[in-house]
Amino acid sequence: MPGMARCLVTRELPGPALHRLRSVHEVVVWQARLPPAPNELAHAARDAEGLLTLLTDRVDAWLLEQLPRLRAVSNYAVGYDNVDLEAASRRGIPVGHTPDVLTDATADLTFALMLAAARRLPAALAAAKDGDWVTWEPAKFLGYEVRAATLGILGFGRIGRAVADRAGGFAMRVLTASARQGLSEPVKELLREADFVSLHCPLTPETHHLIGAQALELMRPTAILINTARGPIVDHHALKDALERGQIAAAALDVTEPEPLPAGDPLLQTPNLIITPHIGSATRAARERMADLAVDNLLAALDGQQMPHQANHIPALGAA
Ligand code: NAP
Repeated sequence: MPGMARCLVTRELPGPALHRLRSVHEVVVWQARLPPAPNELAHAARDAEGLLTLLTDRVDAWLLEQLPRLRAVSNYAVGYDNVDLEAASRRGIPVGHTPDVLTDATADLTFALMLAAARRLPAALAAAKDGDWVTWEPAKFLGYEVRAATLGILGFGRIGRAVADRAGGFAMRVLTASARQGLSEPVKELLREADFVSLHCPLTPETHHLIGAQALELMRPTAILINTARGPIVDHHALKDALERGQIAAAALDVTEPEPLPAGDPLLQTPNLIITPHIGSATRAARERMADLAVDNLLAALDGQQMPHQANHIPALGAA
């Protein structure tokens, strides 16, 4: 029977899940509001066998080298682009993630952003507050219809499908394409056709800056881009340029590169652009269930078992 293991959790998590971890293992939680810098993380986790990380923590080969006792990494997110999966696999370290439980929350936010961008909500909200609502005006705040419009979904996985389900209620025509081969012919076709383009692929070398100048050029001048996947899938310089020149109508980003955007970043002044601070999974239910899955993953691996949601394949679990 494996005994108590030392675990570092890089932030307090909502809900009761961490109590379960504490009842079995020795748990230290990083208490600051900001994530640990790489050297702080290496120091805080130096004796840890289990590491529960957020997407703001970089788990790279260097960090893994600093943590000789590490046996499990559990990432509190469905995406794991912040973890060097190959380096972890080489060490025989399983990496967990939290799929499914945040699918609806993220699909809902995608729709919220689509509607907000189509109907120019930020400008309208500001006008109502700032005294610019002087009368009912026939030609002010004109936006785009969502019903029966064409929605292009890049990456038809759990969240992409949940967005397509919602699009059914708006009688939208849904096109899908895979981003696995980068800016392939099917992706180009989708970009030419769609009124709304929504990104739901993971961040990988193939999807990095997939939506750049060439992709944006293919889109309609009335098209709206939504990114609730990962910031670096969109080239921000190209997006800013496209919005300023009216090459596309609007965009909404829940994720950016970097996160957060530094004060004074030109993107914050770009017209027809909505930015939210990475809140795709931010419902109480989703975040509590993510905590449950992240703890389940860690408990299983520290007990020498396969994680319920493991992102890498470890042939034989090395229960050190
Ligand atoms: P998923 O079920 O794995 O779906 C992702 C889809 O992307 C896959 O079905 C696949 O679709 C495509 N894909 C897979 N591997 C790929 C690769 N190597 N290169 C390019 N495309 C690939 O994941 P999900 O649960 O829907 O989540 C999708 C992404 O959303 C996550 O990776 C995460 O980055 C992001 N996310 C963001 C938030 C937020 O807070 N904003 C919340 C949750 C998730 P095809 O077969 O069509 O290629």
